Amino acid sequence: MFHCSLCESEIIITSSHCERCRKIKNIGNTYGFNEILEVLEVVCLRNGEQRQRKINYLKKKAEKETKENMEGKIYGQDLNDYEKPKK
Ligand SMILES: [Zn+2]
Repeated sequence: MFHCSLCESEIIITSSHCERCRKIKNIGNTYGFNEILEVLEVVCLRNGEQRQRKINYLKKKAEKETKENMEGKIYGQDLNDYEKPKK
C-alpha cells in the first residue's frame, strides 16, 4: 500500500494514482497541464478582495430575493384560489 503520487493522501494498492487523481491526470493529458493550471489560477484561486466582493454580491442577491419573495414578486408562487370550484 502506498499513497497516491498526486494528492499524497489517498491510499492505493495497484496504481500510482487514486481514482480522483487519475481523472485529473486524464483531463490534463487531454487539455494540457498548462491550460489546466491556468484555469485553476484564473477561475478557482481568488484573493481576499475578490472573495469579499463575491460575498457582498451574494448577500445583496439574497437580500433582494428575500425582499421580492416577501412582496410576492417571485415566480412560482401558488396563486390558485382553492376555495373556488373548478369548471
Ligand atoms: Zn490522489
